[in-house]
Parts: sequence; structure tokens; C-alpha cells
Amino acid sequence: MGTLLRQEETGLMRHGIHAETEALDVLLGQWQRTGFTAAEVAENFSACSLYVTCEPCIMCAAALLIIGIKEV
Ligand SMILES: [Zn+2]
Repeated sequence: MGTLLRQEETGLMRHGIHAETEALDVLLGQWQRTGFTAAEVAENFSACSLYVTCEPCIMCAAALLIIGIKEV
């Protein structure tokens, strides 16, 4: 499980954020700002390969499967 520490605007450290879902959030945010449609987002995810240093936890594995990442 990839876990990150993330410092929010408040200056407080949040921990327990899963790296895989954080990566998905970053991409979704960028693609929303770009104005991609849902179909374009799905197409982009289906072309993505995600590299991890540890096997994803069951929650992240399910999220990656549902969102259609090409390979992990
Ligand atoms: Zn996870």
C-alpha cells in the first residue's frame, strides 16, 4: 500500500492518504480543468500505466479496476 503524507493549505499534515487514489485525484483535477468530457477521461485512464513501489491495498486495487487503469 502506498501511503503519503500531505500538507494541506492549513499547514497540518494529513496522513493515511493512499498514493494510488491521490494520483487519481490529481489526474481527475487536471483533466477537469482542461475540460475533458467523461468519455475522454475514461479513454485517458484506459491508456494509463500506474507504477507503484508496493502492491496496492484492496481499496485502491478496486478503485483502479473500476476506473479502468490499463496496467498497474
Ligand atoms: Zn490503498
